[in-house]
Parts: sequence; C-alpha cells; structure tokens
Amino acid sequence: MTTRDDCLRLDRDDPLARLRDHFIVPDGVIYLDGNSLGVLPRATSARVQQVVQEEWGRGLIRSWNTAGWIHLPQRIGDKIGALIGARPGETMVADATSVNLYKALSAALTVAAHGGRDLRGTKIVSERSNFPTDLYIADSIAQQHGMTLELIEADDLPGALDADVAVLMLTHVNYRTGRMHDMAAVTHAAHAAGALVVWDLAHSAGAVPVDLNGADADFAVGCGYKYLNGGPGAPAFVWAHPRHTARMDDAQLRQPLSGWLGHAAPFEFTPEYRPGSGISRFVCGTPPVISLAALEAGVDVFAAAGPLGGIAALRTKSIALTDLFIRLVEASPVAPQFTLVTPRDSSIRGSQASFAHAEAGYAIMQALIARGVIGDFRAPDLLRFGFTPLYTRHVDVFDAVRHLVEVMESGEWKDARFHARAAVT
Ligand SMILES: *Cc1c(COP(=O)(O)O)cnc(C)c1O
Repeated sequence: MTTRDDCLRLDRDDPLARLRDHFIVPDGVIYLDGNSLGVLPRATSARVQQVVQEEWGRGLIRSWNTAGWIHLPQRIGDKIGALIGARPGETMVADATSVNLYKALSAALTVAAHGGRDLRGTKIVSERSNFPTDLYIADSIAQQHGMTLELIEADDLPGALDADVAVLMLTHVNYRTGRMHDMAAVTHAAHAAGALVVWDLAHSAGAVPVDLNGADADFAVGCGYKYLNGGPGAPAFVWAHPRHTARMDDAQLRQPLSGWLGHAAPFEFTPEYRPGSGISRFVCGTPPVISLAALEAGVDVFAAAGPLGGIAALRTKSIALTDLFIRLVEASPVAPQFTLVTPRDSSIRGSQASFAHAEAGYAIMQALIARGVIGDFRAPDLLRFGFTPLYTRHVDVFDAVRHLVEVMESGEWKDARFHARAAVT
C-alpha cells in the first residue's frame, strides 16, 4: 500500500507541484472542497485592490473604457472558453449559473420552436439527481411553455429520448456522485432524437477536459467559484454553439432577459431592443467589475498551467489523487462503514470522491473539518471530497484518510457539537 513517504516522493516528482504557489492554502488545512468554493489565488487580493483603488478610486467612470471594464465579460469568457473547447467570441461571463441556465434553456426552446414546432405537450428531460437549482429553473420554464419536466435516472439514457423531447438538460459531472456523462455520445443521441442539449459544466470547467465544439453541444453554462477559483458568488459563464447564435443574428431567436448590455448598441439608448451579435446578447445588466477582477485572477492560473500540460496534465493528476483517496479509504480499517458512490472507473468520473455513511455523514464531516480536513456533506448521507490538482498534494490525500480513520476509531464524531446543523453544509 502507498505510504506517506511514497506520497512525499510523488509530490517531489510532480511537475504540477509548483502551481500550488499560486494559491494561499491556510496552514493546517487540507482543502478538499475546491468543487464547492475554490481556494484564494495569491494574485487576487492585489488585483481586486488595484481595481478598487486605482480603476474605481481614481479612474472612476472613465475606467469602463480606459481599464477595459466593458470588455471583461468577453475577455474572461474567452479565457474560460479555452478550457471548455469554445472558440474565441463564443463564451460570455455573466450573472449566476442559475440565471444563465434560465437564459440558455429559454434560448434552446426558441431554437426548438423555430420552424413552427409547437412546444406545448413536449418535454424538457433532466436527471432526477441533477443539482436542484437546475431542476427548479427547468420546471419554471417548462410551466411557462406548457411543457413537462421529465426526470430520469442517468442509466435511462439514451432510451428516454423519444420524439417528444425538445431539450435534454444535463449536468456533465454529477454534484453528488461525481459521475460524468460522455458529452459527445449523449449529445449525438439527443440530436438523433431531434432534441437539443444544454450542458451544465459547474463541476467540469477547470476540472476535466471539455470540448463543447467537438461534442457538437448546443448550449452550456458553468460556475466561476468552484474549480475556476473566482471567489464566493463569482459570476458564471454561458456558451452557445455558433450555429444557434448565427440564427439569432437574424433576430429569429432570443434569450428572454433582453437587458441593455446585451443590446447591439447600448449607448444609442434606443427604445427598441436590438440584440447584440453572437453570444454577446446573453449579457443582461451591468457586469460586476470587482467580482470579475477576482474571477480573472482565478482563471489566469490556468494560463500558468498551460506550459505544464494544461487541463490534460491536471486531469491526469486529478485521477491519480482521486484513485489514491479511494484506495486508501478502502484499504483502511474503517472501510466497512463507508460505501463508495463515485464510479471507480476514472473515465466516467469527475474530480471528486463521495462516500455514503448511513447514520452520521454530517457529524463525521464536521469532525474532519474541526481537524482542518475540509470537505462537505450532501444530504442525506454523502461525505464529498473534491480533488483540485492545482493545489492538492498526494500527501494531503494521505493525511486526510489518516484523519478520517482517527475520527472514526476515536468516536470523536459522536461529540454533540458535530451534530448541530449549520445553514450551509
Ligand atoms: C454549483 C452549481 C450551481 C450553482 O448555481 P448558482 O446559480 O451559481 O448558485 C448550479 N448548477 C450546478 C450543477 C452546480 O453544481
């Protein structure tokens, strides 16, 4: 079995190890929750201060032009696009993931309805175990259009794709299990059934290789504060295939949140809405410049990873870390108390490992957090551990498992203070 010394050696030989220097990981913390909120990049504070003190403080409103604020949604969108198989000009940063999902799903329906298809009685299909906000948004849109939202199990694909499906909306990597869909195969099957596909990349962007154009996807959204390390509540992103935005350029197709900064010429202040070209119409209101500055600092770390092999090299390390964690837990004396719910096969797995513990998942995670091993808990029974190859070391994985064993063997998780539920789990 892998020893702690083996892990130290793996870290010493790891060409990606120095990327950790781009982050401030607090002393005494083993952070396995980058899939929920990424660690603070070292460059972020200074960058945000510069925006506040110089660009805002001195430049004031001139900075929309002189500091390029107005171009931030596209500039950062292109940097994220490079991580997800988008070409320049296809991705925009805006709003929250939930809001972008509303826009993308609504736009997909206008595509589906184009050519006279009556959407009433047709379906939006998603997975029952999808992240709840995705289901809530889809349900709301389905109701608006007289459609139904049908929830299936991942294993029901592609059989569930019948002629009544207008749009398939899936999260590429499941937030609970870490199971990853084959984006190209699922998209192909959906297209063959006459459906469009909207992909949520919340647990994919910056974590696993994604090729939206290669997969021939239709629309995609994703999150800025998880693997992209953009900070709490960082703006999200949205992408649409150029074949759809091109038709939108003929003003046939729209997204419904037609705000002034998605207008073709916002500063003409015309009373009629004229959508901007391409993906630009997916911007709605004024971009949150300070948050965008923080997001850009997070996304820029991936540029530093480029010469070291980029996402492909990060993926290899992520698989190694996740495999190591699963192996060490399963070889430990506490293994019988936990059930792995994440696929063992790394080709269908994102960058996390989740273990179910029937009675005490929440308290065990709280006891781990008290020891500085930070993962999270997802009701009703999952301990979720995310592995971010930018800053997680093999030795962190080893030590996290040792803490888990100690928490179980000492019974310290039974302490009452670990059982009180906080607002955020
Ligand atoms: C994290 C996450 C979100 C977050 O949505 P917000 O609107 O940014 O809160 C949405 N969907 C999925 C699948 C997620 O994992």
